[in-house]
Amino acid sequence: MRTGISVEEALTLVLREAQGELSVEEVPLREAYGRVLAQDLASLVNHPDQDDTAVDGYACRREDTLGASWESPVRLRVIGESPAGRPFAGRVGQGEAVAVYTGAPIPQGADAVIRVEDTRREGEYVLLLAPASPKDIRPQGDDLKGGEVYLRRGDLLTPGRLGLAAAMGYPRLKVFRRPRVGILSTGDEVVEPGEPLPFGGVYNSNAYSLLGLVQEAGGEPVLLGKVEDQPDRVLESLEAAGPLDLLLTSGGVSMGEYDVVRKVLEQVGEVVFWKVQQQPGKPLLLARLRGIPVLGLPGNPVSSMVSFFLYGRPFLFQLQRRTDPPYRSLRAKALTPFKGAQDRKAFRRGVLSFEGELVVRSTGNQSSGVLRSMALGNALVALSPGQDAQEGEMVEVIPLTFVL
Ligand code: AMP
Ligand code: MG
Repeated sequence: MRTGISVEEALTLVLREAQGELSVEEVPLREAYGRVLAQDLASLVNHPDQDDTAVDGYACRREDTLGASWESPVRLRVIGESPAGRPFAGRVGQGEAVAVYTGAPIPQGADAVIRVEDTRREGEYVLLLAPASPKDIRPQGDDLKGGEVYLRRGDLLTPGRLGLAAAMGYPRLKVFRRPRVGILSTGDEVVEPGEPLPFGGVYNSNAYSLLGLVQEAGGEPVLLGKVEDQPDRVLESLEAAGPLDLLLTSGGVSMGEYDVVRKVLEQVGEVVFWKVQQQPGKPLLLARLRGIPVLGLPGNPVSSMVSFFLYGRPFLFQLQRRTDPPYRSLRAKALTPFKGAQDRKAFRRGVLSFEGELVVRSTGNQSSGVLRSMALGNALVALSPGQDAQEGEMVEVIPLTFVL
């Protein structure tokens, strides 16, 4: 077992556990939003499927319209029209034009379009007040070329990508099964919201902030409830969890006599590391239990959320072969001081905004028991060991992407 390791080492060890293959399922487009593609998608069509017009106007032969102007308009005979979806069947000859509407194919014989704004209609004739040009013709395949891959395995299906999959002609998509993530809360003092709060009790907030974090990262949360700080109770629950891709426990991994999660995992599982040089979340633990990776999150509400964000989320991204990074670093100007930790990397909670430049302010009390900081904040301010940031200093900021 490793102990007292750096944030970087801890992340490497966590990602090493994310080697499993998620099975693949096929879903109709209407259920695919927010899922992760398990196949590369090559376009089944050209878009536009043939040269079409980007404007409402008239299609004609460019050479017939050279020199057209307000002073000396060119007169063409309108031989038909081509609304979108109903192409004109004939051919445009010399001195002729076809009325076209955005998205309609360019009729045969025409090689230019004039916008309706630059024309005047006179019965079966149209007067062109400027030359027609090919610039408003969208060539076949301008947007999508048949056979070309535009979306890849591991791409999160955002609204734009979902539309793109539809535009490419796919009614159903192969996506990865959502990873199942067990959430087990431990602690004699922990009670469910709705129950009366006994003296010294605390409502179980971790289960629900983790539930949100797991869903936001594409996982399917499996709430395993709460157990007391007794080794056999903890063991029972761990074993009853059923098939999981990741197990999260909260609480019971610190130094205390009643921190039984660590003891149980040491006995029946295999602890990979315990304690990371970070604040909050120092007692974080990684273990394996019957082939399932276990992230033992500290009980403090901020510690458990920050630790999940820094390690659990990247784990789930890797398992889903996600092509986007689990988080990004930006630089912003600190508008309040941020205090670091002597011997560890610190992750403070801040509110990031743009005020002519990126700026970040502290959410206030930075104690790891103050969950309000995670509800108010939209970013972590990352400070190296020993680094204190003064007002006006540039700092590293990691947006908590689930609130952006
Ligand atoms: P522990 O890591 O078990 O030492 O717990 C650290 C702190 O987090 C204690 O103050 C606990 O009461 C609190 N805590 C533990 N589990 C939860 C939970 N599920 N929800 C909210 N607070 C918790
Ligand atoms: Mg405890």
